[in-house]
Amino acid sequence: MPVAASYKRLPDERVDFIASLPFIAVHFSVLAVFWLGVHKADIILCLCTFWIRMFSITGGYHRYFSHRGYKTSRWFQFVLAFLGTTCTQKGVLWWAAHHRDHHRYSDMPQDIHSPKRGFWWSHMIWILCPKFNRTKLENVPDLAKYPELRWLNKHHLIPPIALAMLTFLIGGWSGLLWGYFISTMLLWHSSFTVNSLAHVFGSRRYNTSDTSRNNWLLALLTMGEGWHNNHHHYMATANNGFYWWEVDATYYVLKAMSWLGLVWDLRTPSAKVLLRNRISNALGRIKGKAAEKLHDAGDALTGAVHEAGERIHTAVTDARAVAREAKDSVSQVVEETATKVQAAVEKSIRTTSTNEL
Ligand SMILES: [Zn+2]
Ligand SMILES: [Zn+2]
Repeated sequence: MPVAASYKRLPDERVDFIASLPFIAVHFSVLAVFWLGVHKADIILCLCTFWIRMFSITGGYHRYFSHRGYKTSRWFQFVLAFLGTTCTQKGVLWWAAHHRDHHRYSDMPQDIHSPKRGFWWSHMIWILCPKFNRTKLENVPDLAKYPELRWLNKHHLIPPIALAMLTFLIGGWSGLLWGYFISTMLLWHSSFTVNSLAHVFGSRRYNTSDTSRNNWLLALLTMGEGWHNNHHHYMATANNGFYWWEVDATYYVLKAMSWLGLVWDLRTPSAKVLLRNRISNALGRIKGKAAEKLHDAGDALTGAVHEAGERIHTAVTDARAVAREAKDSVSQVVEETATKVQAAVEKSIRTTSTNEL
C-alpha cells in the first residue's frame, strides 16, 4: 500500500536499534526451545500468561484506562494496571494517552500508528521510535491524579521482571522461556494486530471517519478487540461485540467480575447508538446500488445508440454506393445509345447524299 505524502515518516521518526535490542532479543529467544524443549506444563503456563495478560490489555489498559468503559475500586484499578504492565507494552499512562490520541485523530496524519503510514509501521515500528517515548500526561489527567499509577508508569519494567521471575520459579528455564518470553512475543503480535490488521481487513458496519474494520478472527484472537469498527463507532463501552453473535471474551470476563462486585457500571451501547449511522450506511448502500444500476443502464443506452448509428451509417454508405453504381450504368447506357444514334444519323446522311448524286 503506497504511503501518501502527508503520512510519510518525518526525519525524527527513526528506530533506535540499540534501545530496541530487548524487543528484538525476545523474538530470538524462541530459538532456546531447541535446548530447553517443549513440555506440557510449559505450554499450559504459556497459555495462562498469554490469556490472562490479553485480558489485562483489553479489559484493563484499553477498555478501562483508555476509555473508562466501566468503574472499579482504587485497589482493583491498581491490580488491573499492574497486570497490564506485565504485558511489557510500556506504562499504563503512556499506553492510555497514546490510545486516546488514536481515537482523537483516527487515520489522520496525526494518528501515529495509522496503517496509512505503512502496515509494519502501524504494527510495531512506531513503538521502536524514541520520539514517542514521552507519556502525554495532558491526555490522561483523570489517571495521572493517582500517585500509584504515576509510579507504576515510571517503573514499568518492574511487573514484567516480577512475572519473568515467577515463571522461572514455577517451571525453571523452560518455564521462563514459555511463560514469559514466547508468551510475551505472541501477546505483542496478537494485540498489535488491532492497530494494523483491524484497520485493513474486515467489514464496516458503521460509517466512521477512519478505516476501522470488524474482523471475527481477530476478535477471537484478541478477546473481542477485533470488533474494531464497532469500537470506533462508540468507544466508551465495556463491550466491543455489540450483538450476541459477536464473541467478546473480554466483556464476558468483565460481566463475571461485575457479579463478584469487582467492577460495576459496565457501559453498553444504547439502541439508538446501535442504530445510528447503520441507517445512513444502509441508505448509502442503496444509493450506491441505484447509482451502479443507473450507470449500467446509461452504458447500455450509449451502446445501443452507438450501434444504431453505426448501422445507419453503413446503410447510408451502401445506398450511396448503389446510387453511384446505378448512375454509372445509366450514364453508360445513355452514352452508348447516343453513339448508336449518332452512327445511325451519320449513316443515313451518307446514304441520302449517295442517292442524290
Ligand atoms: Zn483503531
Ligand atoms: Zn480504543
